[in-house]
Amino acid sequence: MPVNILFSARPKLWPVYEPLLSRGLQDAGLEFHLATDITPEDVDYIVYAPTGGLTDFTPYSRLKAVLSMWAGVETIAGNPTLKVPLARMVDDGLAQGMTEWVVGHVLRYHLGMDTHITKQDGTWAQIAPPLASERNVCILGLGALGEAAARALVTLGFNVTGWSRTRKDIAGVTCLSGADGLQQALAQAEILVLLLPDTAATTNILNADTLALLPEGARIVNPGRGPLIDDDALLDALNSGRIGHATLDVFRVEPLPVHHPYWAHPKVTVTPHIASETRPATAAQVICDNIRRGEADEPFLHLVDRELGY
Ligand code: NAP
Repeated sequence: MPVNILFSARPKLWPVYEPLLSRGLQDAGLEFHLATDITPEDVDYIVYAPTGGLTDFTPYSRLKAVLSMWAGVETIAGNPTLKVPLARMVDDGLAQGMTEWVVGHVLRYHLGMDTHITKQDGTWAQIAPPLASERNVCILGLGALGEAAARALVTLGFNVTGWSRTRKDIAGVTCLSGADGLQQALAQAEILVLLLPDTAATTNILNADTLALLPEGARIVNPGRGPLIDDDALLDALNSGRIGHATLDVFRVEPLPVHHPYWAHPKVTVTPHIASETRPATAAQVICDNIRRGEADEPFLHLVDRELGY
């Protein structure tokens, strides 16, 4: 009997993923039926993105696993109708893209690039930027994406501090955890990067109290998730000058509403959730490997802890 795999994502992704998944499943030696429409009781695996619109897993009575195409799983992790393992996306292409985006925005702040890009007014202000080794960058979240970005920043010579729920050991990075670790991490964060997942424990982690711990004029880069930041507190901190600038890629409501104060704020750069995306060629391999594992009774990779929500 073939393995039945339902592809539930934005329709325009189907022609991209269908050949990649088919090839990967063939290479894995599996007999399979891969489609965007399969009778729910016959489905073994769901290749899933929230944009596919699937919210009720109850009819999928023989489902073995849901394989998320997204790294962030906040919209599905707490779904009570999902009773089978949920794997999230950990993809080399996604990590590479995020690393490039984070490094780019950190370098923009570090080098003060806006000064020269936006002000071509004849002023000959010769203020050379410091070296990376004189700049403290902090990353909250040292998972697949945070660690990759941290390693790249270390390679460039930055002083990198990272904070995570469990303490990590990453060469060249000062790794911290716990409430005291967060305070210590924020106190020296001239440039702060948020790469935490959106969970009950991380909501509004950047709030009036934690913003107050940052050095005067600190810059914030958020490619994590919108709810990590208390928006009113950030706007207050930007308006008072406590925080120098923020680059925000993710928001509580997306697309960010046109009248949201972030759009017109002179100290905010809005990017439309483009920091990094799942790369089909590498992501399809990850999905196929997990289906192969499921069929071989091997443990799935990249499982979500449903209690923790990531
Ligand atoms: P991940 O591998 O699950 O890493 C999450 C990190 O956050 C881990 O280091 C984890 O600690 C830490 N963490 C979680 N809860 C915490 C808490 N309460 N306190 C302290 N640390 C906590 O996730 P990832 O693959 O790196 O992705 C991170 C996030 O990036 C995703 O969840 C998603 O929201 C976002 N993302 C954004 C884009 C974009 O284009 N903007 C693209 C992809 C992903 P432990 O290591 O101890 O578990």
